[in-house]
Amino acid sequence: MNWIHNPAFRRFLLSNFGKKQFFWKIVSFVLRFLKMQSCIFCKIVNGEISSRKVYEDEKVLAFHDINPQAPIHILVIPKKHIMTIREVNEDDKDLLFSIIKTCNKIADDMGIGEKGFRIVVNTNPYGGQTVYHLHFHLIGGRQMRWPPG
Ligand code: AMP
Ligand code: ZN
Repeated sequence: MNWIHNPAFRRFLLSNFGKKQFFWKIVSFVLRFLKMQSCIFCKIVNGEISSRKVYEDEKVLAFHDINPQAPIHILVIPKKHIMTIREVNEDDKDLLFSIIKTCNKIADDMGIGEKGFRIVVNTNPYGGQTVYHLHFHLIGGRQMRWPPG
């Protein structure tokens, strides 16, 4: 706890604490931290829960869905905790590009790149989202139907 007594840290707190913006930043950081503690996909990212990984880099993780809806059903997720696609912002441009690149790479590696596949992002209750950590379902290996259920 030595950092609490650090003069630079104290100066930083004193000069910022009165500011509303700073207060809300702290509140949102704490809320985000608490959500991450209970998030099943964050637990997969940090290894607390095991998964059948198919790809990993510093920003993205991909693993087999535990309840596959097709012969190939992979979840591609950002390692960073983002609740839904609605929380994605300007800073996440590179991350989204990495996720799409990863989907294409996995589709090619699994031999469905040319045949075709589907990418689904269920969002909020009416979208059928059950895990609130952004994830892209990469589904393939059979003919997809439309409209979806
Ligand atoms: P969604 O309903 O769009 O939020 O998708 C959540 C997906 O996560 C479902 O397809 C689940 O089968 C899958 N899922 C939940 N828990 C796990 C887990 N521990 N490992 C792999 N997939 C999971
Ligand atoms: Zn999470």
